[in-house]
Amino acid sequence: MKVDFRIGDTNVSAVTHQKLCNTPTMINVHDDENTSVEAGKINLNQYGGRLIELVHSGERLVTFKLDGKQYSFDPNRVFSDVGIVATLKKHSSYSEAAHKEIKSFATAYLKHFTLDKEPVIIALHNTVDGTFSVESFVPGASLASDAAAAYASPNRNKFDFFYVTDKKFYDYLKARDFNVVLQDNDRVTEDGSLSVYFSRKGIPYINIEAEIHNLNNQIEMVKVTHEMLKDLGYK
Ligand SMILES: [Zn+2]
Repeated sequence: MKVDFRIGDTNVSAVTHQKLCNTPTMINVHDDENTSVEAGKINLNQYGGRLIELVHSGERLVTFKLDGKQYSFDPNRVFSDVGIVATLKKHSSYSEAAHKEIKSFATAYLKHFTLDKEPVIIALHNTVDGTFSVESFVPGASLASDAAAAYASPNRNKFDFFYVTDKKFYDYLKARDFNVVLQDNDRVTEDGSLSVYFSRKGIPYINIEAEIHNLNNQIEMVKVTHEMLKDLGYK
């Protein structure tokens, strides 16, 4: 199942993979994070659910032309006006017309899949740059102010970690000795990302970050997420 969204002169497709049932919903928004999609699909075949994958250029950023100008943005920074302004400025330049175009994409995407009605959202990502890890959130590190708590296990790869908005997820995953970050939902930077968007909506959100190519680790992390949701009464 595929639905196309038009942004300027570019098409962004959302491809849905579904098996047995339509929950839980797993989402992938970065087109270069293919290990995460693979892990999601393997999990889907075993446990059921749906996975919504964004497909455009194979790159992280979406690039489009509008009125003869080229723009780029990060598709996980478009779920607030502040986020859209910042991502346009960071990756290209700002214009009101480009802002409007991106905002209608973000709105249409959320609406098409009725994501605001989900009981819980699982996001699938890969860490790719060799710097972003669970250690980015420990006290004194660059993103510490976004986190209410962070647990780095001595037994895990620091690039494989969970990022969650709900303390019961944090406690569960920490007890199972996984790397996990609890977002500080009151103080987190409003960057237009889905973790901030869903926390504002009161929808529990679990982001699974695994180092690119660490397929087996990510399969395990998706599996543990399903076990956790079951244990905590989500399905
Ligand atoms: Zn990502």
